[in-house]
Formats: sequence, C-alpha cells, structure tokens
Amino acid sequence: MIYFDNSATTKIEKTVLDTYNAASLNYFGNPSSLHKLGLKAYELLETSRKQIAELMGFKPYEVVFTSGGTEGNNWIIKGTAFKKREFGKHIITTSIEHPSVMNSMHQLEELGYEVTYLPVDKTGHVSADDLKNAIRDDTILVSTMAVNNEIGSIQPIHEMARVLDDYPNISYHVDGTQAIGKNIEDQFIDPRVDFYTFSGHKFHAPRGIGFIYMKAGKQLEPLMAGGGQEKNLRSGTENTPAIAAMARALRLLKQDEAKKANKMTKLKTELIEHIQSLPNTHVFSKLSDDFAPHIICFTIDGVRGETVVHTFEDRDIYISTTSACSSKKGLESSTLKAMSTPEKVATSAVRVSLDENNTEAEMKEFIKNLDEVHDHFQILN
Ligand code: PMP
Repeated sequence: MIYFDNSATTKIEKTVLDTYNAASLNYFGNPSSLHKLGLKAYELLETSRKQIAELMGFKPYEVVFTSGGTEGNNWIIKGTAFKKREFGKHIITTSIEHPSVMNSMHQLEELGYEVTYLPVDKTGHVSADDLKNAIRDDTILVSTMAVNNEIGSIQPIHEMARVLDDYPNISYHVDGTQAIGKNIEDQFIDPRVDFYTFSGHKFHAPRGIGFIYMKAGKQLEPLMAGGGQEKNLRSGTENTPAIAAMARALRLLKQDEAKKANKMTKLKTELIEHIQSLPNTHVFSKLSDDFAPHIICFTIDGVRGETVVHTFEDRDIYISTTSACSSKKGLESSTLKAMSTPEKVATSAVRVSLDENNTEAEMKEFIKNLDEVHDHFQILN
C-alpha cells in the first residue's frame, strides 16, 4: 500500500495513539472539576498548551484549543466580524481559500458583510499590491491561507503583513493548516499576523483536534456559549487526551524538521521531473521556494481526475483529486479555476501529497505505476 494522500489526512503515529490512550485512561477527570482528578487533567491540558506554544514560538496564553481547521477558520472569521461590526463590514480574502473560509465568507455576506476575493496569478499566488488596493476605510479583517491545499503554493505572507503594518486596526488571519511542520515557518510566521489556524490530523494527531493562535490582546467573539472553558472563549469540556496527543505529535513533527522537508522535496522533485518527461501531462506545483515540499498537483490530459484516482486505488495506491473536501461533492477545483485553468484541464487534476514517512522506494513504485497508468490512457485516447 502506498498512501500519498497526506494533505487529506495523515495516519496517527503509534506513540501519539499511546499518549491518547494513556491520557484517556489516567487523566480522565474533567479539567474543570475541583477534585484531584480534575486538577490532574487540568495540569495535563496546560502542560500540553505550554509545549505546543514553545514548539511554535507562541506564548501559552496565545494558544486556544479547537476541534480543527474548520472550526478555527469559522471562529476567527466570524468571531472577528461579529466583534468588529461597529467599525466596518468589509473583509478581504483570496479566491483560493479552503471551503471553511469561503463558506464562512458567504454566510457573512448574507448577514450584510462585503467580501473582496483577491485574484491569483497563473501559479496560484496572491499579490500584496492587490491586497493594498483592496483595503478600504471599513476593512476589518484580512484572511489568507499560508499554503494552498490543492497545489501547494506558498502565499507571500510577509509581503502582505508589511502592507498591513500601515493598517494596525485591520485583523490579519492566516490559515496555516497545510503549512505546519514543513520547514517553511520562516515564510508564514510573522509578528503582524493576529490569528493562525492549525489542525492536528494533518500532522499525525487524532481527528477533531486543533488549535488557533490568538495574539495577546486580540479579541474574538465566542461562537460556543456554555461553561466558559478556554478562558471564556470556547466553551465545551476540553478534549484532554486528544490535546495531549496533539502536543506529542507536534513534538515529533518538529524533530529534524529540515531533514524531513528535504526528503519530501527530493521525492517531489523526482516525481515532477518524471511527469514533465511524459507527454500530455501538466504539472501545477512547481519546484521553486514558493511551493511547499509535500504537494504535487498534476494531470494526465483528457482523463478525469476521479478516474485516475480509482485506477491507482485498484493498485493499492491512494491519491486524491485536488482536495478531499470538494472531491466527493463533484465540485470543480476552486484554486485551478481561480488560476484561469481551462475547465477541461482542471477536471483532470489529481493531487499527490507526501509526509515525512514516505520513502524513496514508494516513489519509485509510484512512478512505475504512473508510467503504466499513463500508457494505458494514451492508448485509450
Ligand atoms: N484549511 C485548509 C487549508 C485545509 O487543507 C483543511 C483540511 N482539508 C482545513 C482548513 C480544514 O481542516 P479540518 O479538516 O481540520 O477541519
């Protein structure tokens, strides 16, 4: 079996699962309970928060736990919009965001907010100049992803942050879900950013757990009303075992991060160079520094993406159409559309997404299978 669908989700690490199980059995108290079992769970929660903050270069009180990327994005976008509605109702985002951002924006539009969707160039990057030109007196929030989940383009976060230096009242949110642990933190961690979204299952933690960064002094309207957990920001009994497991997963992820990223880059290079040698193909992901090391989006021209996915599946190889979130719904790729890719080409797109555990042998095997699949479809065409 070759699993090359790590941007959809990653397999939980055995030691991370061990942490989850041990925490579930030994730290099962409710962190809000007054007795010693509650205190024990509370201590585990806060130790995990401290570890995550340290690994990310944040302060512990800037880390708030969520259920994952979708919740983080919904909360930061709507929580900011609601908090700042008296100052303005204009928001800027990009035309290549994840559905959790896009659909949050659409919901806000129905509530009377105005949203500007920045275009992208042919390589899937937004421009800081376009951001500057879109800013208005009533702009309250800018939300841009760090790494695009469909093609892997890294957005110019620092350039946009420098534009926003001149507008201190505008909140800046970056969706870092696909960017964490890929040795590209220097390209998207910026002191001007007020909020980041992260999700555990993209780095071998369990599903349904994540965290946001909320810069000290910033505010968000809570979306979950209840018992006031997470400093009254996000009510609901904390998922202590998953949080402890996520801290463990992040610790593992950060070990030898550069080495792991180099390994993925090597595999990505091998694959891209090989696809480029095949006729009737197109590669959207580039080998330049403004692309992440783990995502390769390409086409076998004239063959629908889902046909390619299932052909590989028959060979026990798992890849996806451009994003798992839209593939089952048969939605066309919003990123490729925003890049002005002709529909006929976009419907052929598939995504290979690597993790640090993928090997040279797997890539060789994948390439061998790709040659056969490609040959097969050339004959049929
Ligand atoms: N943002 C991006 C860029 C993503 O790739 C994803 C996951 N596909 C999400 C947000 C949503 O994360 P989650 O699955 O944890 O809700």
